[in-house]
Amino acid sequence: MTAYTLPAAAMPWDGAPLVDRLGVLHPANEKPFASVPLASADDIGAMVARARAAFDLGPWPRLTPSERGTILRRAADLIEGAREELAALQAMETGIPISQFMGMHVSRTAENFRFFSDVVNTAAGETYEQTGRYLSIVTRQPAGVAAILSPWNAPLILASMKAAAALALGNVVILKPSEYAPLSVLRLAELLYQAGVPDDVLQVACGPGQPTGAALVEHAGVDVIGFIGGTATGKRIMAAASATLKKVGLELGGKSANIILASADLDRAVDGSLMGIFMGNGEQCLAGSRILVEASVADPFIDAFVARTKALKVGDPMDPTTEIGPLAFRAHYDRVMSFAAQIEANPAYTLLAGGGRPPGFDEGLYFAPTVVEAAHNALPLCQQEIFGPFAMIQRVRNLDDALARANDSDFGLVSYIWSNDLGAVMKAQGALKAGTVWVNTPMARDVRAPFGGIKQSGIGRDGIKGSVDLFTEEKTVMIPQAPFDLPKLGMG
Ligand code: NAD
Repeated sequence: MTAYTLPAAAMPWDGAPLVDRLGVLHPANEKPFASVPLASADDIGAMVARARAAFDLGPWPRLTPSERGTILRRAADLIEGAREELAALQAMETGIPISQFMGMHVSRTAENFRFFSDVVNTAAGETYEQTGRYLSIVTRQPAGVAAILSPWNAPLILASMKAAAALALGNVVILKPSEYAPLSVLRLAELLYQAGVPDDVLQVACGPGQPTGAALVEHAGVDVIGFIGGTATGKRIMAAASATLKKVGLELGGKSANIILASADLDRAVDGSLMGIFMGNGEQCLAGSRILVEASVADPFIDAFVARTKALKVGDPMDPTTEIGPLAFRAHYDRVMSFAAQIEANPAYTLLAGGGRPPGFDEGLYFAPTVVEAAHNALPLCQQEIFGPFAMIQRVRNLDDALARANDSDFGLVSYIWSNDLGAVMKAQGALKAGTVWVNTPMARDVRAPFGGIKQSGIGRDGIKGSVDLFTEEKTVMIPQAPFDLPKLGMG
């Protein structure tokens, strides 16, 4: 097993009951292996006070962008140097296979800090001189104290996407990682301090949504909230933030359509569709969980997809050859199982693979990769986010039928289309109601481009413009170009 070192704030679990600490379980055996300090509502008050002082009086917002960038680039190098332990910590706390964390997840986490350092260093402002009388200068200033609340499914990529933008832009950050995956985020904070981030500029508050996350969101000393998580939580956060009218960015859930037309390269579509739903144990906001395949190619597509699903290697997430690990925690596992229980009860579903605990796995939160054919799109398993290795397939008549079903969803995060017919692709990219459309590719990401959802998948975007909008405030300064006569009031 790959070695990992716990962050200083964490302790290996010795079997003793936990008091004022949060246990972190390994999903392969459901046993706690570490604990971290639990932040109470009072602790949040103290953290916000320290963050406010760091923002209002401390050096970080007053450094030049290039000085902040030097520190954040050093952090990026340290993150890459800690690749193996950051991958191991994430696999231990989430159950997602270590091979998936070892590559892109750590590289992207490091790159987020370099990228936003560049964004801030190359930013240019706006000036308007069209009135002839005034020069109007638009400046951007850091929003202030930023609360960033992140989920467990990709702990470092997601927390760092928002934290890197907020820090590079001069904000002070309180990061609340998921209660199920706090270790890698605590280690990330250690690396940032090692790189030279001043005291209290990045604090990590560990604890559950209630009371830890809620205390942070409600605190009047927090200026802006960057939230990544479930749609139901996002709604609660938006409601809580309205009491003090905080800015909120919300990256929420999805039930994304993956359309395969007869004009597709079917082999690539099978490869990409398997990635779309089974990478990250299927516990991904951007999973292509609703496969819509044109009827004329449905049989060969489904046969190949099901055969490959059955051949996926389920196993220990710390084994580098594992393709599907255990689900992250018990309540989530029970929820996924409750979706599986609906299959048999409804003849509109046909189970094609999986559907429960895989044979040979008696302990741990293992769930066999599952494929279900559904008769129509209104069924609950086609509408609700399952967030597991659980593919729903529907046969569609043609492109129009596919587009109608794709858009028949409360969500609008991403969608996928596989076709070599340019006309069909162009029609689909225009019609699909989603923040991102992937054409003949699964899950590509360009950090410069906007990423985020429409409908109940979120508000706002990551990327250059969206991140700058969330973590800065614009200010207009108007200066007369030359003295001019003002009307003299009160002169009789
Ligand atoms: P979650 O909503 O349960 O939790 C997310 C974070 O919010 C955690 O840190 C949690 O402790 C905190 N939280 C929970 N209740 C809170 C409250 N009342 N006040 C303040 N904070 C609270 O989500 P999760 O189970 O950790 O993650 C899975 C969800 O995240 C899925 O729906 C997935 O689609 C979504 N997600 C979205 C994106 C995206 O970019 N759109 C990325 C990853 C995950």
